Amino acid sequence: MSIHDAEKLIRDVPDFPKPGIVFKDIAPLLADGKAWRVVTEAMIAEVSACKPEKLAGIESRGFLFAAPLAYEMGRGLVLIRKPGKLPWKVVREEYALEYGTDTIEMHVDAVAPGERVVIVDDVLATGGTAAAAKRLIEKAGGVVVGFAFMVELGFLGGRARLGDVPVASIYRYD
Ligand code: AMP
Repeated sequence: MSIHDAEKLIRDVPDFPKPGIVFKDIAPLLADGKAWRVVTEAMIAEVSACKPEKLAGIESRGFLFAAPLAYEMGRGLVLIRKPGKLPWKVVREEYALEYGTDTIEMHVDAVAPGERVVIVDDVLATGGTAAAAKRLIEKAGGVVVGFAFMVELGFLGGRARLGDVPVASIYRYD
């Protein structure tokens, strides 16, 4: 399985979840063990140079990449979750959507002060979620040293919102 062949398993679903959005459905890729592995390995190759101590996954599809990266790299996993899911004390970050706002949370002790963290998600779109995740980790005292995405929707310009840290993506659509 090549990284190019794995890409063919990402399914474009037009007009989901609303008209005008082309949803990148990663389920067929995840259903192929070789494809998932080749993508995970490519992401590890990209983020190794950042020397993360923790990998932070954004709920829920970010977990599907953050977990194997952390496991393979022998690093800790941090869960960035939707509100009301975490049982311990949390830090919270609100961010603007096209209409309204959204919120993400993380345990306050999920990262230690000064710890190096790479943020992981499946798709980088407008960058609002990933930028909020960065602020969240910084609130807890962590240092964001990079981002890793499987897919980057380059035409939405999300990368520009992530500041001056390396942003890795395996498949970029401009
Ligand atoms: P954004 O904050 O706009 O960068 O959106 C990022 C989040 O929305 C990610 O967690 C993605 O899983 C999801 N997302 C946004 N656009 C798409 C898309 N076209 N296909 C699949 N997932 C998307």
